Amino acid sequence: MPKTLPLVTIPTPSLRVRSVEVDPAVIGTPDFQLFLDDLIQTMFDDNGVGIASPQVGRNDRIFVVDEKSGPRVIINPEVTATTKSLVESEEGCLSVPGVYGIVERFKKVHVTGLDRHGRKMAFDARGFMAIVYQHEYDHLNGVLFIDKAIRMTKGGNSVRV
Ligand SMILES: [Zn+2]
Repeated sequence: MPKTLPLVTIPTPSLRVRSVEVDPAVIGTPDFQLFLDDLIQTMFDDNGVGIASPQVGRNDRIFVVDEKSGPRVIINPEVTATTKSLVESEEGCLSVPGVYGIVERFKKVHVTGLDRHGRKMAFDARGFMAIVYQHEYDHLNGVLFIDKAIRMTKGGNSVRV
C-alpha cells in the first residue's frame, strides 16, 4: 500500500538545491516504484495538483502532475517555453504554507522526460497545466514561486503545487 510522505517546508535545505538526475537503471526497481506510488499518494492526500520529489525531502529529478487522465510521473524532465507570451497565475505551494502570489509564466511549454517505466515521453502543455509544469520544474532546480512572484495575494484562486 502506498503511504503518505511527510512534506518538507521552507526553510528546509532540500528545497533550495538542484536535484540530481535519476539513473534509468533504478527506475524498474521495486523500491523506486514504491517511492513513485508514495509520491502520488502524498499529492492526492495534500490536495495538490502536482508535487516534486524535493518536497518530500528527496532530491531526485522527479515530479508528478495530476492530469485529467490520471497522475503522470515524469523522471528527468525538461520543460521549455514554446512561446514568449506570458500569463499571470496565482500560485501557492505545499512547501510554502499560507503564502500566495502572482507569478508570470509562459503560456505554452514543451515537456520531455521518462515515464514511470523508463520510456521516453514528449508532449506540449498549455494553459493551466503549462503553469503546473513550470512550477514543478522550478522545484527541481531549487526555485520556489516566491522567488518569482511579482506581488503577493490572499490566495483565493491559487493553485496548490
Ligand atoms: Zn510548489
